[in-house]
This record gives sequence, structure tokens and C-alpha cells, in this order.
Amino acid sequence: MNEIKETLLQHDISPSYHRLKIYEYLLDNRIHPTVDRIYSDLIKNIPTLSKTTVYNTLRSLTEKGLVSQITIENNEVRYDAAVDFHGHFKCMKCGALYDINLDPEGLPDKIDGHSITERHYYFKGICKNCSSR
Ligand SMILES: [Zn+2]
Ligand SMILES: [Zn+2]
Repeated sequence: MNEIKETLLQHDISPSYHRLKIYEYLLDNRIHPTVDRIYSDLIKNIPTLSKTTVYNTLRSLTEKGLVSQITIENNEVRYDAAVDFHGHFKCMKCGALYDINLDPEGLPDKIDGHSITERHYYFKGICKNCSSR
């Protein structure tokens, strides 16, 4: 918990109880949860939490680069505490979103003369758990 507090302080986020809990949840649950999922999981133990707090906290965490936003389906924004370079695989059967290790080496900085500042790699299919069933 102290490490989490330090990280927030280092990123100019004042570590309120709610913010600590939300960031801790994201670090512990690498399931790329939606706002609704985060809220409904945390409200069980933190009855004082509001959805607005969850939204605002996620916005600060994203702005400070501690969390990244993932949008695969238009209506579904998910949050990821892993901000190092990786891709995502979405299972069309169970809906799980997996982290995929990708090697950033050798990728171009420019495409057709355009400078790249962000990259998103999404894959869809049937995950290994679903296909072995
Ligand atoms: Zn699956
Ligand atoms: Zn991820």
C-alpha cells in the first residue's frame, strides 16, 4: 500500500483513500476492467465510493500515465495498469481481454511520412481456455 502511495505522489496525485483503492484494484486485477466493473467490485468494501470518484480518479491516472485506456468496442472503455508496450487479445466467446507480449524493436517511427506517437494492437478470436473446452 505504501508503494502505491509513493507512486501516486510521484505522479502529483494526492493519495486519498479512494484513489489508493482504485489504483490498487487496477494493479491487482489485470483483467482490463470497465468503470462499471471497478465500481461494482469496490463498492462491496467501500460503501462511500461514488461512480463519479471512480471516473475522476481514472481520468487523473490516465492523464499522469499510470493507467492506459483501451477501446476495442466503441461502447466499451477498459482500463489497464500495465502501461508498457503490449497488445491485446479479445476472446469473442468469453469476452476476456488478454495482454499479448509484443516486441517494440524494429517497429517504424514513421509510416508514409507520418510520425507515430501511439500504437494500439488488438487481436480478436477464441482464447486458449475456450478452445480447449
Ligand atoms: Zn475465451
Ligand atoms: Zn493490457
